[in-house]
Amino acid sequence: MRTAAEMTELYRQKGLKITPQRQCIFGILEANTTHPTADAIYESALETMPSISRKTVYTVLHELNELGELLTLDVGTGSLRFDPNVERHHHTVCRKCGSVGDVRGIDTARVRMPASEQVGFEVEETEVIFRGICKLCRPKGRKS
Ligand SMILES: [Zn+2]
Ligand SMILES: [Zn+2]
Repeated sequence: MRTAAEMTELYRQKGLKITPQRQCIFGILEANTTHPTADAIYESALETMPSISRKTVYTVLHELNELGELLTLDVGTGSLRFDPNVERHHHTVCRKCGSVGDVRGIDTARVRMPASEQVGFEVEETEVIFRGICKLCRPKGRKS
């Protein structure tokens, strides 16, 4: 996603209304690397905008997704996660707290299905999810 200011400009260009609710959500998502759930975004929005509705938050998230400015991820934590980083990257998922982290620099071109497994399946993209325990959830004193 672009910056909140650029998003406002993009909405203007597309003739979409710029409401304080939309701007509030742009602000929450700008440079956000926590991969929040819709509920977490709603909770943060409530802090600055107590009148915002859950439905509005969902609507704006959907709009941003349609505009290609926000990724929707299902990393198996039970709820969808939103990622304003729309460049190709991969993720770590903590099995204890469900935190999601970014991983760049993986060359998935080298990950190939064995010919015997392909049975007419055409691969369009390859996603890597590293599952494990994050730094905060690891017992103290244990390294790596
Ligand atoms: Zn964790
Ligand atoms: Zn990410």
